[in-house]
Amino acid sequence: MDISSAIFECSAPDLDSCPDESLPEFAFIGRSNVGKSSLLNALAGQAGLARVSPTPGFTKLINIFTMNKTWRLVDLPGYGFAAGARKDSAQFNQAVVNYLKHRTNLCSVFALIESGLPPQENDVEFVEWLTRNAVPYVLVFTKADKVTPAEAEANIAAFRSRISAWFETPPRIFTCSATNGHGRAELLGVIGELMAAIAAESGAKPQAAPAAGQRRSANQLARANRKRRPDLNRPW
Ligand code: GDP
Repeated sequence: MDISSAIFECSAPDLDSCPDESLPEFAFIGRSNVGKSSLLNALAGQAGLARVSPTPGFTKLINIFTMNKTWRLVDLPGYGFAAGARKDSAQFNQAVVNYLKHRTNLCSVFALIESGLPPQENDVEFVEWLTRNAVPYVLVFTKADKVTPAEAEANIAAFRSRISAWFETPPRIFTCSATNGHGRAELLGVIGELMAAIAAESGAKPQAAPAAGQRRSANQLARANRKRRPDLNRPW
């Protein structure tokens, strides 16, 4: 998939502030400093799309971008804040919880994990939470250029063994590097694949976003007629 346009839609503090549910969404999340902003910029091919923050946990809003006018890339606040008010963190964590549990047009989460680290408890806990709440997701190991392939493989194998008892079919796993572009085509491929599956399911091509004036009614319509998320990449 080529990215021909990437347009900032909004920064939402909670689920109700998110735009209508007319376009499929793909959400990226991970611990602060996992390399999420860098990866989003690399995926979009735009250096300034997401902020690469020197302060861990700086991004606390749900940032939404419309890509190719047909799908949305959602930049979720990181978990495991190293800095920032505890109260704020809790509030935004609740926004993320609501988004992940109730956003019916969320097609897949891309759960980002640093490939240079052995399994971290908060990553394992987050993946367990996704699994328990039946949120569709794939695992993406970031910063693959920072370690040797053998080191990355060992960390990925250790992570896989921590979570393997939860599934018959384990989640799909990818590696990527924002620095050298490794994994970009594969991640965009997953999005393209799920978009095609949705189009096949609904018997129609994905629709472009409605004009701004139509947003409210489109949103109400979507909520009144809540679709099930596609089952395709649920590993359980
Ligand atoms: P975020 O907090 O998850 O959004 O992480 P950032 O994208 O801000 O990246 C955190 C730090 O990791 C920055 O210093 C980045 O330059 C660095 N970084 C991000 N992605 C990569 C990568 O693929 N390879 C390497 N070597 N460094 C990366």
